[in-house]
Amino acid sequence: MSKHIVILPGDGIGPEIVGEAVKVLAAVNEKFSLGLTWENQLLGGAAIDAHGVPLPDVTLDAAKKADAVLLGAVGGPKWDAIERSIRPERGLLKIRSELNLFANLRPAILYPQLASASSLKPEIVAGLDILIVRELTGGIYFGQPRGVRTLENGERQGFNTDVYSESEIRRIAHVAFQLALQRNKKVLSVDKANVLEVTELWKEIVTEVAKDYPDVQLSHMYVDNAAMQLVKAPKQFDVIVTGNLFGDILSDEAAMLTGSIGMLPSASLDQNKKGMYEPCHGSAPDIAGKGVANPLATILSVAMMLRYTFGAEAAAKCIEDAVGRVLDQNLRTPDIYTDGMQKVGTQEMGAAVVAAL
Ligand code: NAD
Repeated sequence: MSKHIVILPGDGIGPEIVGEAVKVLAAVNEKFSLGLTWENQLLGGAAIDAHGVPLPDVTLDAAKKADAVLLGAVGGPKWDAIERSIRPERGLLKIRSELNLFANLRPAILYPQLASASSLKPEIVAGLDILIVRELTGGIYFGQPRGVRTLENGERQGFNTDVYSESEIRRIAHVAFQLALQRNKKVLSVDKANVLEVTELWKEIVTEVAKDYPDVQLSHMYVDNAAMQLVKAPKQFDVIVTGNLFGDILSDEAAMLTGSIGMLPSASLDQNKKGMYEPCHGSAPDIAGKGVANPLATILSVAMMLRYTFGAEAAAKCIEDAVGRVLDQNLRTPDIYTDGMQKVGTQEMGAAVVAAL
């Protein structure tokens, strides 16, 4: 199996945080003899500046040929005024759809050392480890028909269509169950089956798929209850699988339980576990170039890449443990700083993780 990675630093803090993540990648590549190779390509504003488009063909071709993609972030005020169809974010949406990345994995992990950063009580969130699996290429965000029409009485009406086929539900359910097997063997499927037929089918198909995974415990919850339970008792959850719309909202809610956006990685996978890995945050133009951005979300995205695309569990765990040790040393970038800790910049944080590997 080839093991090639395309690195897309992007814009704003992207190049700074990706720079540190690549140092960590290089160190584990050597330590575990992983045989990984990588190359840099342009995406977003950086690509617009160089080629006039946010996703140049050379970038897309390289990403299609690669086994995994590591992305920093794209966008910034410099490109906000240009025509909508060639804005940086369009490049991101296009590469996700061109690579057919239908499974979005968003872990919400709260390192016990950072429990005070959450707005919830430490005893409710300390040690939290949830994995939200969101269907990313179907549902109401893509369903047809959609639009705004004018009714006979002259009033305008907006409409969208929530649609999922059995095969779309089945493939995302398999992803969730397989991930649960690597974790605490619990899957919660979130729906609104009491009101929406599309999620009634969702529930039925997920229940069917569960029969292939007798070791995994499946439960179901309506989305409104899931939203409440996430803030009331989030540690009851292991893997949560849901559609595009509910997943969008619940994954942001779960992310906020952890208190710091600078700590959260994500993965988007295709049918063959090829993936694009990126931090959950954006390009943070307000702090770009200042050397203060937190690189840990991007470093933890590398760990996800090693685990899910390359099956290198020991190397992935080594990175996650190193991040824990760095937090134990009380090193904090400004976004996670609290009194009594030692404030460090992006490069110092990256170097500390490399040293702790
Ligand atoms: P943002 O995530 O970039 O920033 C929100 C806040 O969080 C800012 O105060 C920022 O300084 C802080 N922050 C974010 N990442 C941080 C880090 N690693 N360390 C420390 N602090 C961090 O969101 P935004 O301000 O809404 O968007 C800024 C730009 O990013 C926009 O152009 C937006 O379109 C783009 N964006 C890109 C992505 C992506 O590439 N996946 C995602 C979201 C937003």
